[in-house]
Amino acid sequence: MKLSILVTGGAGYIGSHMVKLLVREGHQVTVLDNLSTGHRDATAGAKLVEGDLRREADVARAFGAGRIEVVMHFAASCYVGESVQNPAKYYANNVIGTINLLEAMRRADVSRLVFSSTCSTYGDPVALPMSESHPQLPVNPYGMTKLTAERAMSDYGRAYGFDTAALRYFNAAGCDPEGELGERHDPETHLIPLVIKEALRVRAGGNPEDTQLNVFGDDFDTPDGSCIRDYVHIADLCAAHLLAMERLLGGKVSGFNAFNLGTGKGYSVKEVIETCRHVTGQDIRYKIATRRAGDPARLVASAALARTELGWSPHFNELSDIVDTAWRWFSRQPSPTS
Ligand code: UDP
Repeated sequence: MKLSILVTGGAGYIGSHMVKLLVREGHQVTVLDNLSTGHRDATAGAKLVEGDLRREADVARAFGAGRIEVVMHFAASCYVGESVQNPAKYYANNVIGTINLLEAMRRADVSRLVFSSTCSTYGDPVALPMSESHPQLPVNPYGMTKLTAERAMSDYGRAYGFDTAALRYFNAAGCDPEGELGERHDPETHLIPLVIKEALRVRAGGNPEDTQLNVFGDDFDTPDGSCIRDYVHIADLCAAHLLAMERLLGGKVSGFNAFNLGTGKGYSVKEVIETCRHVTGQDIRYKIATRRAGDPARLVASAALARTELGWSPHFNELSDIVDTAWRWFSRQPSPTS
């Protein structure tokens, strides 16, 4: 069935991969993006409405273009460290932005939403792997604003009959396996792109000894002392959005629903670097730096619910395959070491 879908943040890292998939599936896609971190050239095949979720008039404009049947909501600020320094930005973008979106949906009589949420809504793990029933006690404003958005979705479900799915990503990673789209954050703070940028620096003739790569803490309670995370490929995240949308439309899931998305396998920072060495063939070195505020030692998903309820299973189960897609994309960029 051909659907009319609004994708907020569709010019961003994960949103742009989603747009490509939806367009390929034959859907009619409208993107609402303020291009603050997204890229106009990443929305091929979609109608781009340049606008800001914090401005009601812009959101109304996105709905005004034609009947929308489903919304996928990616637009958000998503750096943990920045959220501690500048919580106002996070409450405005992630909370006020989401409320404006929900209100515009209510006015337009659109009740189905798939939301880009995060394992940061859980805070420090009290049990591993983490399931959806894990307590949600965020330890930073980023996680708190995403949790607040989830709560609004849940309340809108009860009061106004919204059917919504919050997909709680663990560590989104990798690039378009076809090499058309990638991860373009500025500044980049995420581990895998930073390791790959270091590999590119070395490949370009840089001295491995002058490494710019930091491992944030090697004294955690893990086998090699560095933090363990569950890296999930963005193509798998996008596939989960499609499945969630189909379930919402088919009435198979209703009200508010939350699903973890991860592979269930954890890799330490040092293991990630080792995998990148292997995939890139470059002599990647690192320095040990102090811990980053708010980093729990381990975050690993139980995605059992997504498997049973959505029929989702990740295709990228090996970290090396995830890294390979990122390496291929970054290798083709014109000024990769900037
Ligand atoms: N990390 C690191 N060096 C970096 C960037 C990240 O050691 O330059 C670590 C970070 O402390 C965390 C893991 O890598 O344990 C993944 O961090 P990332 O920022 O990619 O994702 P997050 O877990 O914050 O969502």
